[in-house]
Amino acid sequence: MGHPVLRTRARSLELDEIGTPRIQQLIDDMFETMHDCQGIGLAGPQVHESIRLFVAGLDDEERTMPPVVMINPEITPIGSDVEEDWEGCLSIPDIRGRVLRATDIKVRALDRGGKPISMTADGFPARVIQHETDHLDGVLFFDRMTSFESLTFLEEYSRYWSKNAEDQ
Ligand code: ZN
Repeated sequence: MGHPVLRTRARSLELDEIGTPRIQQLIDDMFETMHDCQGIGLAGPQVHESIRLFVAGLDDEERTMPPVVMINPEITPIGSDVEEDWEGCLSIPDIRGRVLRATDIKVRALDRGGKPISMTADGFPARVIQHETDHLDGVLFFDRMTSFESLTFLEEYSRYWSKNAEDQ
């Protein structure tokens, strides 16, 4: 947080750039970085690449999202349902806060082969896709919080607010 690239609108990737070794290697590196940092998603600007590309995916006991690569994503909310839940961000280490997001969304994007994909998502994956797409527009999750009252350090989050809090 603080690096100007995180506050810059990233540029779209051209179709003929997507297949280049540079972009394919970047995608592999981003998955590796995301896993090393135990992240759920990672967007280009977070690794100082101001391009509209993110990777995401998670498989733990509570939440599942298959690995995805999304290039030039466009999100449309379905309906007007919103829900508030906890978010964190690899660019804002060890902080959690509650953020209001659309519950159901439709996404159009290109995959790592440059092929158009169109999908709907709800709940947790929809939240991740909205968070990562925000990065491509220079938006951080703080910007989406309706109040800072829930801002929490990770240690206190684990102690008081996470689903496992009472077991610890
Ligand atoms: Zn983030």
